[in-house]
Amino acid sequence: MDTRGAVWNSCLAKEKENTCWYIPVHDAGEGMLSKLSTAPLGAFLVAWEADDASGRTPTTKEDAMAHVLGQDGPSQIIVRFYGVRGSFPTGDARIGGHTTCLTLRFGSQFVILDTGSGMIDLGDELLSPAFPPGTSVNDVEAFMRVWLSEQGHKAEDLGAALADRFQSCNGGVRATIITSHVHGDHLYGIQAFKPVFRPDTRLHFVGATHDGLTVPEVMERFVFAPPVFPVPWKFLASTRTHRQIEPGERFTLETDREDVKVWMLPMNHPNQAYGYRFEWKGKVVAITMDHEHGHAYDENIVKLASEADLWVTEAQYTDEQYAKCRGFGHISESAAALQAKEAKPRLIYTAHHDPNAGYDTVQQIARTIEEAAGVDTRFAWQGSEVRV
Ligand SMILES: [Zn+2]
Ligand SMILES: [Zn+2]
Repeated sequence: MDTRGAVWNSCLAKEKENTCWYIPVHDAGEGMLSKLSTAPLGAFLVAWEADDASGRTPTTKEDAMAHVLGQDGPSQIIVRFYGVRGSFPTGDARIGGHTTCLTLRFGSQFVILDTGSGMIDLGDELLSPAFPPGTSVNDVEAFMRVWLSEQGHKAEDLGAALADRFQSCNGGVRATIITSHVHGDHLYGIQAFKPVFRPDTRLHFVGATHDGLTVPEVMERFVFAPPVFPVPWKFLASTRTHRQIEPGERFTLETDREDVKVWMLPMNHPNQAYGYRFEWKGKVVAITMDHEHGHAYDENIVKLASEADLWVTEAQYTDEQYAKCRGFGHISESAAALQAKEAKPRLIYTAHHDPNAGYDTVQQIARTIEEAAGVDTRFAWQGSEVRV
């Protein structure tokens, strides 16, 4: 048995010692129902629970199944933060020290926004024994029903069969990569993103140019390029494609349910940064990373975040720090509050925290914005997740 099968088997063994939720089987036939409600099936949940860093406990069996498969509710956009620092990584364990990387899940569409050092942890997570992004509850149920109904298949072999079906055949990482800009703190995590070296990984870059270069061109010249990195871009085993977008363009990303509408606008930041507004199934998430206020570009921020269900924004400086860092390309707490007042989002998450900012400072910035703008404001920490 290969390692994947072994992992599943250890999950099965672990499951037997626990009381588990079972996979929803409302419409299964009588015979199938008894097979599906046998203990080993609960192993999925044990396996995923063990992997899940959110700390959230599902409340019903349906919720549990949906939760572990990342399919919580048909309309939820799931945003998860893997790196929340700006400028450079730090060793902070309380909020997290990795630089910018977050993911957005819209049904089967999995988007990685920025490839800062947080992407290293994301890569490890994607390669852990879990269904790949985009696998739905229906895919798994359909597979199990057919597999269990076939002659000679035993429930105890189900773990290995699932590993084969969903990890070796279909199991490669599939992600769309969207980039705010290509400064080092949003870029270099991809050098240690393990899936980029695997032949079963497909990464689709979507974006505009930064000082005339597309993101794959930047990767080829400055990231996977000797002597900066020993393996040249063209020799990486993964498949990488690119779609060029023009600043201001509205474009779509496909999902298994409904296309995601995306709007990209330029931000005020050296070497060209962009902000994004994602609309899907009636929900809106806006993400505006590095930008400095006090320019005509501020209108773009307000447009993108206008009445969004969630606005993720950089808010790097307190007003006091900003006085010393004017022109560095980042926003102050008061300016972020002013933009929030105009845009009226329902919820704000601050990110791209200054590497020197401790817990108190990061919390103070979020409070200032919340009190001045009257909008629920929280700060992102490494590993936090928000669903809208
Ligand atoms: Zn940055
Ligand atoms: Zn920057």
